[in-house]
Amino acid sequence: MIMETEKDKKARVTKYIFVFGGVVSSLGKGIAAASLGLLLKQRNFKVTIMKLDPYINVDPGTMNPFQHGEVYVTDDGAETDLDLGHYERFLGYSLSKANNTTAGQVYYTVILKEREGQYLGKTVQVIPHITDEIKRRIAVFDGEYDFVIVEIGGTVGDIESLPFLEAARQFAIERGFNNALNIILTYVPYIKSAGELKTKPTQHSVKALMEHGIVPDIILCRSETKLNKELKAKIALFCNVDEDSVIDLYDVDTIYEVPLILSKSNLDEIVLRKLNVPSNGLDLEEWKTFVRRIKNPQHRVKVGLVGKYVKYRDSYKSILEAFIHAGSINNTAVDVELIDSEELTEENCESFLQDLDGVLVGPGFGRRGIEGKIIAIKYVRENKIPFFGICLGMQCAIIEFARNVCGLENANSTEFDKKTKYNVIDLMEEQKKITNKGGTMRLGQYPCKIIPGTLAYSTYNQELVFERHRHRYEVNNEYREIFEKHGMVMSGLSPDGNLVEMIELRDHPWFIGVQFHPELKSRAVTGAPLFIGFIRAALKHRKSKET
Ligand code: GLN
Repeated sequence: MIMETEKDKKARVTKYIFVFGGVVSSLGKGIAAASLGLLLKQRNFKVTIMKLDPYINVDPGTMNPFQHGEVYVTDDGAETDLDLGHYERFLGYSLSKANNTTAGQVYYTVILKEREGQYLGKTVQVIPHITDEIKRRIAVFDGEYDFVIVEIGGTVGDIESLPFLEAARQFAIERGFNNALNIILTYVPYIKSAGELKTKPTQHSVKALMEHGIVPDIILCRSETKLNKELKAKIALFCNVDEDSVIDLYDVDTIYEVPLILSKSNLDEIVLRKLNVPSNGLDLEEWKTFVRRIKNPQHRVKVGLVGKYVKYRDSYKSILEAFIHAGSINNTAVDVELIDSEELTEENCESFLQDLDGVLVGPGFGRRGIEGKIIAIKYVRENKIPFFGICLGMQCAIIEFARNVCGLENANSTEFDKKTKYNVIDLMEEQKKITNKGGTMRLGQYPCKIIPGTLAYSTYNQELVFERHRHRYEVNNEYREIFEKHGMVMSGLSPDGNLVEMIELRDHPWFIGVQFHPELKSRAVTGAPLFIGFIRAALKHRKSKET
């Protein structure tokens, strides 16, 4: 890569694309933003994507997964919205904490400045102080990228998002209309009794957006089925946009198909035209192969995902996506069975687990559901079913091994039993002094040294890997020797050897636990080595049952 000088950066005029949402949430605004990002990147432009979240939490780190879904962690240790996961998976590179801003962060910065006396004599107000701070955050990548896509969380009309809409409006005017573009994603519902797709909710959302002084340039219409020409013409007429700028985003088999249908509708071409940017050739070949493999797999496996947040799939977003990537690379459809760990008992676990080709025990916090996870791990360890433990999943594997193999009765993590006699998982030293809950875990990317000759080594084919973390507890080093004596291998360690990052079992076809979150670095097309290896092992297990 050619290094850019400051002069190059100054010469580049960054173009901004705002993405707003209308009608209802969960329409896939993040995926639409990520898809557009991919299309521009595949035209050789430098692109980044930013999410502005209107809630007051400083970050989602203290929110329950049922409230917010998964908390996504960046290399630089920010706890962010899960849409950043989509952006990274589609773009294929790492983003940073500057890619996610919340109302909480904005207000926090402004209030701290007020206390420092930086606004002496003035009344501190939403306009201009809050909006200026939002605009400052939007502009942090100025000159560095050709395009910054800015997704505004929530839907138009929410009280909380008003300052963000106002900031976007001001920003576009300041930059000039050639340098900023507005896209709204709305919903076109199919009304069964009428047998029709309805445009009224879209008209209302566009009207609501225009009340804030923002005129959409492009309307993306989420719908179950394709929109016909007449319907698009009607939306164009009522909402004041060009006909080709009404683009339908109908249901597809996989979210990874979205960039393909958007490029068929020329979304990227239209964006370039409206922003006065000469077009570059588009290369989607690799992506198409990736999607083709997802849609036409040669093999099939069934894996279990054991956790306590399974009623809400977004809690395990990155894990589920990592399965799709690893599946495509192995030419395999991965059917994921979500298993509630609170329902698992010694008596019923066989009926839940016996048919599975692999079991992943997921991350989590708190005592609820722990014993069920331990029961599941015992079953797959004894029955030689491929096992993959992530963070809490690995900690549970340590507890299970300590209790059932090493004979350390009632061994536990001090997270669940403060007075346990065998504290095989315990708080990290630096965590013992911490009292504030927000943003104080071991967060972000750290190096891990892999021991040659292990399963971990042959899976990564590398001696030093960098993976992301989000935890307070760790393996208690006092027990390492006992574990090793009984057949567990500490296959990955922090470079100073003090922290256990990966474990595996000598006497098992595929049993790996990791203290980090490999799912957070699994990208479309390339996947993540541990997930690829796990699915390969599951496939092998499946085949061994069939013969
Ligand atoms: N609760 C455990 C810890 O804090 C595991 C966290 C996780 O699974 N991300 O160490």
